[in-house]
Amino acid sequence: MQDNTKITEMETEGGELDAARAVRADFAARSLVGDKAPGYYIQTLGCQQNEADSERLAGLAELMGYRRVCDPNDARLILVNTCAIREHAEARALSFIGEYKHVREEHPDTVIGVGGCMVTQRHRADKLKMSYPYVNFTFDTGALHKLPFLVKQAIEKGSRRFVISDEYDIVEGLPVSRTSKHSAWLPIMYGCNNFCSYCIVPYVRGRERSRREEDILNEAELLIADGAREITLLGQNVNSYGNGAEDSSNIAELMRKICALDGDFRLRFMTSHPKDASDELLRAVAEEEKIVKHFHLPVQSGSDDVLRRMNRKYTSGHYLGIVEKLRALCPDISLTTDIIVGFPGETEEDFEATLELLRRVRYDMIFSFIYSPRKGTPAAEMEGAVPAEVSKERFARLTTLQDEISRERNERFIGRKVRLLAGEVSKNDSNMLTGRGDMARPVHFAGDASLVGSFVNVKITSCGAYNLEGELI
Ligand code: SF4
Repeated sequence: MQDNTKITEMETEGGELDAARAVRADFAARSLVGDKAPGYYIQTLGCQQNEADSERLAGLAELMGYRRVCDPNDARLILVNTCAIREHAEARALSFIGEYKHVREEHPDTVIGVGGCMVTQRHRADKLKMSYPYVNFTFDTGALHKLPFLVKQAIEKGSRRFVISDEYDIVEGLPVSRTSKHSAWLPIMYGCNNFCSYCIVPYVRGRERSRREEDILNEAELLIADGAREITLLGQNVNSYGNGAEDSSNIAELMRKICALDGDFRLRFMTSHPKDASDELLRAVAEEEKIVKHFHLPVQSGSDDVLRRMNRKYTSGHYLGIVEKLRALCPDISLTTDIIVGFPGETEEDFEATLELLRRVRYDMIFSFIYSPRKGTPAAEMEGAVPAEVSKERFARLTTLQDEISRERNERFIGRKVRLLAGEVSKNDSNMLTGRGDMARPVHFAGDASLVGSFVNVKITSCGAYNLEGELI
């Protein structure tokens, strides 16, 4: 499967780069440079993969001569990078797109484009084509590199294009404009072959394809040299990195090679699928000091019957075996997961099995969702829909139980000295910083903004279910 994936460089001649230069030259000819350069604004919805994609869209916008603005009203290029994981995400995307109509009415030269998983679905791209006449173009998750071409066409010809390429090549060499200097996203693979019955991702992100190891190591070196203190490896299922590829090793080897690079940084990775959580991976996480001792391992349900109908390809027993091995190798590891409540046909016994799994594993934190049918997925056709009020009631029980467990898990850090990356200044108090370490939750502590982006030592003084407090030492 992997070896027919094309890995191409951004086209220099007559392609994307030429289009970008043409747009830039046009702005220069009209003295739209420096702080007179037209602004760009990107609204990103969804997962970390979308955030990483938006950093590449930002890089392309800056290559074309646009400058980043914080208010869409000041932008002459507006991009919405959409998500399709749940109905709610698509509704949010459409409401944002609706909001930008007035910008175009006030500034007719504004270019509006929509990308991401939502518009990789034909029925959604058609909806924008028919019902949102002020949207210039849409592009799917495999066509980020086509942005300069689409912008050039919109500026020069006012034409509208709706790109669904069904080709999912890996395009290397895209310029990247990062939102954080010290925390960096590093995509290592794209797509998913697992076809969990409720999930839209395989239909909007294509088949699994891994970047070449050398490209990833080169990018990691550049990130470290550029001041990254934390690198997060990204993929829909990073555990299957390198499957079927000659020029890529596996996730465990790759992470060990990144950890061997010089520099004071640490490494995170997401998202893992339990069926591919190898012993080699668990050992690498336990043994490599630079790898953060936090493992996100989505389980989705504690019921084997539900897991089978979700097509998750493991049982709760298999999953608990991985947790046991991981805790044997790394007793204090922070463990988090994803849970879906109200999957079609979920009985009270099935749900009780999920609660029992939480009681046994004792996660530091969970991401929990009420099942949302996705058009085109097998689960959307399944019978036995769980009534909304039943799902809500189960969701509330799940949250209550996990809040107790999270508080108990966070309490183990009280009195401990921990090393954190000071990430950002608190939005509510400029004397407070938020830091992240091996714990699953953020730590709040008093500190000067000049510490942002550096590692600090903090003594944990108190905690709740959702965060921890500490003091600099
Ligand atoms: S592993 Fe399953 S849930 Fe995750 S992206 Fe792939 S199909 Fe979706």
